[in-house]
Amino acid sequence: MTNSPVVPEVDLSAGGRQVGHLRVPQSRDDSGWGTIQVPIVVVANGTGPTVLLTAGNHGDEYEGQVALLDLARTLDPGSVQGRVIILPAMHYPACAAGKRLSPLDGRDFNRCFPGDPFGGFAMSLAHFVDSVLLPVCDYQMDLHSGGTGMDIVPSAVGHILDDAGDDAGLQAKTLAMADAFGAPITLLLREVNAGPTLLAAAEKHGVVALSSELGGGGRLNPAALAITKRGVRNLLRHAGVLEGLPATGEYGPSRRMTVPDLAHYVFAPADGIWEAADPLNTTVEAGAPAGLLHRIEDPAAPPIQLSYKATGLLWCARFAGRVKAGDPVAVIARDM
Ligand SMILES: [Zn+2]
Repeated sequence: MTNSPVVPEVDLSAGGRQVGHLRVPQSRDDSGWGTIQVPIVVVANGTGPTVLLTAGNHGDEYEGQVALLDLARTLDPGSVQGRVIILPAMHYPACAAGKRLSPLDGRDFNRCFPGDPFGGFAMSLAHFVDSVLLPVCDYQMDLHSGGTGMDIVPSAVGHILDDAGDDAGLQAKTLAMADAFGAPITLLLREVNAGPTLLAAAEKHGVVALSSELGGGGRLNPAALAITKRGVRNLLRHAGVLEGLPATGEYGPSRRMTVPDLAHYVFAPADGIWEAADPLNTTVEAGAPAGLLHRIEDPAAPPIQLSYKATGLLWCARFAGRVKAGDPVAVIARDM
């Protein structure tokens, strides 16, 4: 039994298509009993696995939000065996603002897990997802893109699991699910600060779970949207919720890649304006120039040249021109 203050206004155990809200308390000066309405759609029929699909964990990542709105409208309950729970704009205040972080309190929702029932909007919503939704899930996918700051080759993303715990097959199941999603790249990585993410929370529950990176730059990329729409239906086929086999993209099977450690990142050592040497999705060499960091503070000094420390594919590139000290400007992936 959960002690969550979040009230779902759909019956999670009922069949058919239900469209409603999670009602999350958010007290304000002008509305002490105010709530924030987080959209939820449940499509269920017969018996089968439960799949949780989420987007809008970060509000400035759009491919997942639009793909899940499309799925929520078009998924025929009669074609489903099992249950699909869809949160197309999970961190609703950030989605409505088109921002990565919460306009309420500046929180990154993907650093809030496993949450706190009485820790404010983001923490109580994270706690609801962790304590009510994840325990009933077999599969979970949290759809991300690069956001305003980054641009990323469309990829299904899983964590490198050091210890698969009770289920030693979890890594293999993760890879199979990612291949089924069918993005150009299936990527396993060690994430910066992965611990409080939804993906890590799902793994702790033994749920076969994925994230993604499906474009970026704060725009809706039509090619990445097509990959995402096909991918979420592919996942439902992989899980057995929909009939049929996952459909392969025009680029063929996913290329399995990894970002094994932080040596595959290039970090800006100072504030500045980033001039990349290479476009996204280019094969690059360790030691080659990654780009120039221009410093407006010292017009007489040459720009700082940064180099790649690994050979591989320029998988993620800084999109926004302005960077701060410590920001990644490039992430290199290599074949598994
Ligand atoms: Zn994100």
